[in-house]
Amino acid sequence: MTKKIDTLCVQGGYRPKRGESRQIPIIQSTTFKYENSEQMARLFDLEDAGYFYSRLQNPTCDNVAARIAEMEGGVGAILTSSGQAANFFACFNICEAGDHMISTASIYGGTYNLFNVTLRKMGVDVTFIDQEASDEEFEAAFKPNTKLVFGETLTNPNVRVLDIERLAGIAHKHGVPLIVDNTFPTPVNCRPFEFGADIVTHSTTKYMDGHGAAVGGVVVDSGNFDWNANAERFPGLTTPDESYHGLIYTERFGKAAFITKAVTHLMRDLGSCQSPQNAFYLGLGLQSLHVRMARHCSSALKVATFLKNHPAVKWIDYPGLEGDREYARAQKYLPNGSCGVMAFALNGDRDYVSRFIDSLRLVTIETHVADCYTCILHPAAHTHRQLSDEQLLAAGVAPDLMRLSIGLEDPDDIIKDIENAISQADRG
Ligand SMILES: *Cc1c(COP(=O)(O)O)cnc(C)c1O
Repeated sequence: MTKKIDTLCVQGGYRPKRGESRQIPIIQSTTFKYENSEQMARLFDLEDAGYFYSRLQNPTCDNVAARIAEMEGGVGAILTSSGQAANFFACFNICEAGDHMISTASIYGGTYNLFNVTLRKMGVDVTFIDQEASDEEFEAAFKPNTKLVFGETLTNPNVRVLDIERLAGIAHKHGVPLIVDNTFPTPVNCRPFEFGADIVTHSTTKYMDGHGAAVGGVVVDSGNFDWNANAERFPGLTTPDESYHGLIYTERFGKAAFITKAVTHLMRDLGSCQSPQNAFYLGLGLQSLHVRMARHCSSALKVATFLKNHPAVKWIDYPGLEGDREYARAQKYLPNGSCGVMAFALNGDRDYVSRFIDSLRLVTIETHVADCYTCILHPAAHTHRQLSDEQLLAAGVAPDLMRLSIGLEDPDDIIKDIENAISQADRG
């Protein structure tokens, strides 16, 4: 019987037997011992499952990954050293030099650079397209060598909601998988596989860890995508792998072909593994994720409502607010709440905004987002300060946009801090 998400947060993936530790143990070991060379050889040939070196697999990381796989409803998952590594692995496990992929345009800046700069340098061509573009515009972006479509459930920083079902339909019509970065809602608030996504990624650095303690990422495979239906398009998964004696991933591993290849190829060669210690922190974070997400959402709605009604506020985007441009779609994909992140602007010039931000006491200036601390960022003045207003708009970031991430402090204290900072800014 599949359990509900709150139960999976606490108990998913790890089921200790008699006398074993209740909490996932930290196996802080690089290597694992075997009795004879035959055993070791079978592991290296992927004939047996087992641990031999923590760059490829480690029991702590696997237990935590298994919990996230159950939470998302997937067949398997791997932890990576960061969210960047997770998105790179998810795409590069399918694409190689000479291939093409389609990504929505409004995505996390780090992912945008990964696709636009580094993947291009590796010979993978990327087309960025507005996620609100028509079906016809999306279809026109496909080329014979297109291998995947990528988007974010909730975009960072402008909190748009992805129409996962529509994009999955378009991707599948063209025989390619849809990869969704589900960092902001987490599986507590949205499980993209239920809407047709094939692969999900996360920066676990955000809500999953939730305490600003450990950088990490995860790739989850639904096991649903049929790589063999267009086998010639995915040779890495459907033709013999000479580095493992001619093994064919889809034949040997079936539904787990994609995630197994991510370990045996990308982890083996690139080694962006998560440390067992960081995986342990992540596992602890997951055990309260459902409780924390509910609080992030209720506090954020309270703060967003306050901002919406304040005369100093020019505009606010928060998908949970009635009347928000994303409200209807959020009701479909995020009925229990989106996350703690919102975007808003104040009436006033850049000096006014600076005075406001500098007057905040409890709310801190941080490039980070989506954890227990309430924090604010003004991309035009902070992360994107090298860009002109025109370039900012082209990147989907309004020059006056501030990203506010509501943490787990008392929402009344957060509101008081914002109210006070607006008064200070008004005083000049
Ligand atoms: C932060 C973030 C990433 C990158 O994750 P890191 O853990 O910082 O490498 C990717 N996607 C989204 C949506 C993010 O917010």
